[in-house]
Amino acid sequence: MKKNSIYFLFIFFVFMQSCNFESEPTVKCYAWLSDLNEADDATVEKKFEKYKSEGVCGLMYSGGQNPKVYERLGRIAQNSGLEFHAWIPTMVQSDTSKIDTTWYAVNGRGQSAWSNPAYVDYYKFLCPNREEVYNFLKNIYLQIADVQHLDGIHLDYIRFPDVILAKGLWKKYNLVMDKEYPQFDYCYCDKCVGDFKAKTGIDIKAVEEPSEVEEWKQFRYDLITNLVNRLAADIKKRNKIVSAAVFPGPNSVAKRIVRQEWNKWNIDMFFPMNYNDFYLEDTKWIGEMCKEGVEVLNSSKPVYSGLFICPAPSQKAKEKDPENHGLLPNQLDDAIRNSVENGAAGICIFTPERMTDEHWAVFRKAVRKKYNRNNSVEPK
Ligand SMILES: [Zn+2]
Repeated sequence: MKKNSIYFLFIFFVFMQSCNFESEPTVKCYAWLSDLNEADDATVEKKFEKYKSEGVCGLMYSGGQNPKVYERLGRIAQNSGLEFHAWIPTMVQSDTSKIDTTWYAVNGRGQSAWSNPAYVDYYKFLCPNREEVYNFLKNIYLQIADVQHLDGIHLDYIRFPDVILAKGLWKKYNLVMDKEYPQFDYCYCDKCVGDFKAKTGIDIKAVEEPSEVEEWKQFRYDLITNLVNRLAADIKKRNKIVSAAVFPGPNSVAKRIVRQEWNKWNIDMFFPMNYNDFYLEDTKWIGEMCKEGVEVLNSSKPVYSGLFICPAPSQKAKEKDPENHGLLPNQLDDAIRNSVENGAAGICIFTPERMTDEHWAVFRKAVRKKYNRNNSVEPK
C-alpha cells in the first residue's frame, strides 16, 4: 500500500511538472495585429489559437472603421479565449467626405497637414481643438464600441505630429532634429492661435522661439488630454475598456516630441511603445521607461510595455530601415524581464506576425517565468 502511494505521488509529481511546462502565462501579453479583414474564418481561427497557445491574452486589432469587421473577428478571438480590442487611429485621418479640409492641423509655417503632411504622406493629422473633429471621432468610436464581441477601444496616433523624430529615424528622413522646427510644429490654425491668445494674452505667432513658451506647450498637452478624456467618457458609457498606444515616458519622450501628457488621461490601460531601437537604446532602457510610466501614474493604472520585434533577425545588421529593426530573439527575454520587474503589468508585441520561431520559443518561456514584481499593477 505504502509503495503504491509513493508510486502515485511520483506520477502526480511528473504530471504537475508537465503541467508546469504548459502552464498559464504569468505575464499578461497583448499583441498589435492587422491585415486579417479579408482572411476567411478558418485562417483567422488558426492564427488566434496559435497566439493563445503561445501565451498571448489579447489582441489590439487594426481593421479600419467598419464595425462589421470587428464583429466577425472579435467573435473568433473571444471564442479562442482572447480579449479583443479595436485599434483605431485618432488624429491621423485620411481624406473622407465626412472631414472638411479646414479641420486639419496647421504647422508653424502656416501649412495644413492635409496638403503638406510632415515626413510621410499619411501624416494627415487633425486639429484636436475643433469641436467638429471631436464629433467626427466620437461618431466613429461609438459605432465600433457598440460591437458585441469587443472588449475595448485602443486609441493610436492620439497626439500631435512628432515635432522631433526619435533619433533612430533621423538618418532615414535625412534630418538633424536638434530643436523644434516650424514645419514640424503644430497646431497654428486660427482657432488654436486665437484660443491661446484669449487664454494667456500671448500672440504665439509673434514669438520667435515658440518652443521656449511653457504655456504654449501646456496648452497643447491639454488639447490632447481633453480630447482623450471626452472620448474615453463616451466609450466607457458603452461599457468598453479604453486604452491607448503612447510614446515612452511620458516625461522622457512623449511630452517632449508628440505632446502627450498621458499620465493625465482618464483611460484604463496604457501601452507605451518602448521601441528601443528607434531611440538607439537597449533593453535596459525599456525597463527605465516602464518604471517612469508606473511611477508617474502612481501605480494607479496598468502599463503594458510595447515591444518592437525584428522580423528578420539575420538581416538586422545589414538593414538600413529602422522599421525593420527591433528585438532579436536573444534580446526578448531581457526585454520582458526588464518590463515586468520595473512595474509593467505585462507586455504588448508589435507584431505577432513579425515573430520568428526563435522569438516564439523565447517568448513561450519568458511569459511563464516567475518575476520579482513588487511594483506591478494588475488590471482590475
Ligand atoms: Zn488647431
